[in-house]
Amino acid sequence: MKFTTYRIFYILVLITVAIITFAYTEIEPPIQNKSTTKKVKNIIFFIGDGMGLSEITAASIVNGNFLNLEQFPVVGLVKTYSASHLITDSAAGATAYSTGHKTNNGSLAMDVNAKPLKTIMEMAEENKMATGIVVTCTVTHATPAAFYGHQPTRSNVNEQLASAFVNSGVDVLVGGGKKYFMERTDKHNLLDTLKKKGFNVIDSISEARNIHEGKLVCLMAPEQPVSLLNGRKSYLPEATAKAIELLKNNKEGFFLMVEGSQIDWGGHENNSDYIIKETIEFDQAIAEALKFAQLDSNTLIVVTADHETGGFSINGGSLENKTVQSAFTTDYHTATMIPVFADGANAQEFAGVYDNTDIFYKFLKVLGWDIPNK
Ligand SMILES: [Zn+2]
Repeated sequence: MKFTTYRIFYILVLITVAIITFAYTEIEPPIQNKSTTKKVKNIIFFIGDGMGLSEITAASIVNGNFLNLEQFPVVGLVKTYSASHLITDSAAGATAYSTGHKTNNGSLAMDVNAKPLKTIMEMAEENKMATGIVVTCTVTHATPAAFYGHQPTRSNVNEQLASAFVNSGVDVLVGGGKKYFMERTDKHNLLDTLKKKGFNVIDSISEARNIHEGKLVCLMAPEQPVSLLNGRKSYLPEATAKAIELLKNNKEGFFLMVEGSQIDWGGHENNSDYIIKETIEFDQAIAEALKFAQLDSNTLIVVTADHETGGFSINGGSLENKTVQSAFTTDYHTATMIPVFADGANAQEFAGVYDNTDIFYKFLKVLGWDIPNK
């Protein structure tokens, strides 16, 4: 009797295994059409610092109910929490994108134990891609720095980060922060070093109009560039177009990160005009990337934010008059999910709801690189 029970049990197990094997064989996805999953050669990654859905919506309303962002066919949402806090800061937020690791607030491309993490820009360099960074803050500020520098804390490390940049292999750099390259406690003039390394070194983007090849460092303010509201001449779109022009001739492709840095500062100030102007400029930079991607089908464009800032909401206004009535819940960041927009080669990978760290792994996947253990 007992023997029979075992035998029945054994047969049932065999049948179950067979069914599971058959089921898995059946649900294996079909090989995807190569034309829709082209290998990505170039990535243009846009980060609107502090740019949540209300920031985007407000900019769209004031811009005449239109942003270039609205053309993107693929939309996703990311969760932005850091290793240490539900509400991330820009250092941990950028580190999630640049390294695929959640880390403590304040950490730049280092894990929770202060161990340096390789960034996607460093990997791009190893893979012979050209690389660039274009921002509207100092080039040593948290978001750009997390792509080329490694520091356990973001505070008071501007000079160390400027040195890290010089040794990074990044080919194009546009933003503020000239002072950290020139007026240094170690008395080194890093701009001279960069010139010796073959960089064109300039201090306004209009000077780049005659530069059509080679490496470029453009530092247009001693420290932070001022806001558009306070008179900054818009440069993000032209600088984005110039970076693409300089990087695109590299045979192995390029990785460019563009940040609308001051959207966040408008949120901290609870100033909706500040947010809206900076977001519209950011969107105009995105238009430059779209123009390029229309001509180059191997290019992927991804636009997202590191977090929302201000708990910004739209409580009224008018499409007709292009106005918004805004309200804020905080002068710091919030934990709300933020949108991801993708267009171009393999854009479909970016649909869905996922962690900010997944953006890094999706980049590796579409570039056809090995995925390290998470
Ligand atoms: Zn902030």
